[in-house]
Amino acid sequence: MRTIDIIVPCYNEEDNIEAFFRAAEEAKNSIGDCTFNYIFVDDGSSDGTLEKIKALGNAGYISFSRNFGKEAAMYAGLKASAEGDSDYAVIIDADLQHPPALIKDMVEILEETGCDSVAARRVSRKGEPIIRSIFARLFYKIMNRFSEIHLADGVVDFRIMRKPMVKAIAGMPERCRFSKGLFQWVGFDTRWIEFENVRRMSGESRWTVWGLTKYAIEGFVDFAASPLKAAGVAGSLIAAGSLIYLLVEIIKTLVMGKDTPGYASTICLILFFGGVIIAMLGIIGEYIGRMYIETKGRPVYVEKESNIENHK
Ligand code: UDP
Ligand code: MG
Repeated sequence: MRTIDIIVPCYNEEDNIEAFFRAAEEAKNSIGDCTFNYIFVDDGSSDGTLEKIKALGNAGYISFSRNFGKEAAMYAGLKASAEGDSDYAVIIDADLQHPPALIKDMVEILEETGCDSVAARRVSRKGEPIIRSIFARLFYKIMNRFSEIHLADGVVDFRIMRKPMVKAIAGMPERCRFSKGLFQWVGFDTRWIEFENVRRMSGESRWTVWGLTKYAIEGFVDFAASPLKAAGVAGSLIAAGSLIYLLVEIIKTLVMGKDTPGYASTICLILFFGGVIIAMLGIIGEYIGRMYIETKGRPVYVEKESNIENHK
């Protein structure tokens, strides 16, 4: 009999919890010879999410003192799973956008191939705002071009993992977390399984445009050092170019004497370099800001209550 931890980050999902639980139990029965060990992570919901979870009976839960974000919720669940003694861990959304029925296929692939993880990938972004799809695609392109990890387009945080991988990820205490990158970074043999996008069952996406933008910057800065290098290279190129321009100007003045006062070019140059410098400071600032947050060593989340035994 295998035990599978089901980690479910929930933020204001009171209308979805029951349906999710029913669908997950169905999936469990279809797999057979296994128990599901639920770890619901209530990410500081302001609605009745926690009550709904408690009403499920013996489902395990961790409740945060406020909303810390999905990354923190997944981390809390993975940590609890790493401390427990289940065989596998599954991370899945509560809004039924990640069909629980897929867990059966994931378990099959995991056990047949002997791989370490099976992750879901959306084949279409149907039902998603077009603007969001465009920016998401662009993000993956840039990310793969400049960072040390490779992200497949359409990866979602829906996957099953064996214990060693769970432990590896739970063992990464960094505050600025970008799980899609972390899953990739730890390595291990990961297989893919595809599924059609479905609309969230109830409520709106918890992501705002600003939230997604911050998430994209987070992911990029956490895994790519190249913007720092690019800033350096661009800076030196521009400096060299401006020196050459200076030489040309000096020679011109010596050969042809003074011509027009040249306000325009001067102001253009000042503005140009000012802009470049500010942009570079911005890039460097992103990295320094992250170092600042990491050095403070604050916890990724604060727990208010939990019913999971042996869980610190
Ligand atoms: N979620 C969370 N904390 C947050 C935002 C979201 O735990 O601050 C959970 C949410 O309850 C859901 C999952 O993360 O189970 C995915 O969120 P959502 O459906 O809003 O994202 P989308 O599907 O639009 O990417
Ligand atoms: Mg969703």
